[in-house]
Amino acid sequence: MRVCYNITSKCNRNCRYCFKFEKKDLSLEDNVKVLQNLVKNGVSKISWTGGEPFLYDGLFKLLKMSKDYGIINSVNTNLTTVDASNLKEKLENVDRLIVSLDFISDILNEEYGIGKDYYRHVSSILKLIKEVRPDIILQINTVLFRGNIDFIKDLYDELCHYDIDCWKIIRFLPIRGKAYSLKDDLSISDAEFKQVYERFINSRQPFKIIIHGLKEMEMRHDIVLSNGDVIYSEKGKDIKVKSLV
Ligand code: SF4
Repeated sequence: MRVCYNITSKCNRNCRYCFKFEKKDLSLEDNVKVLQNLVKNGVSKISWTGGEPFLYDGLFKLLKMSKDYGIINSVNTNLTTVDASNLKEKLENVDRLIVSLDFISDILNEEYGIGKDYYRHVSSILKLIKEVRPDIILQINTVLFRGNIDFIKDLYDELCHYDIDCWKIIRFLPIRGKAYSLKDDLSISDAEFKQVYERFINSRQPFKIIIHGLKEMEMRHDIVLSNGDVIYSEKGKDIKVKSLV
């Protein structure tokens, strides 16, 4: 069983289309209890997300514990706390590194809130990842929305220069947070989505491409929030199941 574990609500960026949860973070001690509960409940894969998961101080300890329990760890990051000097340490006990990348343009990265130098920084780290950890699965996640749909081919061309394993394109789902308040400005139409889907899904690519539309996004997925609540998100609704603390 797989869960998405939002270890922190904190983020050092301010994307206009962000749909993260806003909950208080738990102490490391409480997160250890949450992790043990997940193991007891048969969880075998954890996707550590946020906010920005590397901003949570206890993440390394939790990743190590999780790995010792035999869990497969993915970390979904904006890479902004990662540099050449700490890359090896950050990747310890990580099986899959998922990097958010929606634009390669400095202007658009600034306009949409992740920061002007974002791509330049991400680019410099992407080039190093497989040197440091040849065995890691490296995935890029791109939210497809009004702001980047016209530039998606440019992003694809750029990604071909990196040694990545997978590119996941996720149709913007205005489910909560800022994303919900800007849904009319940022959503794309079914026809626009279909065009991107057909452009990429069946052609030969140097890396695997996964495309999630609203159907996949609205399927049930289980999430542990940073306050220890377990919810499932289905058909655009978040439903609380229980607390693990
Ligand atoms: S989309 Fe990701 S990087 Fe941007 S503010 Fe939200 S959590 Fe942070």
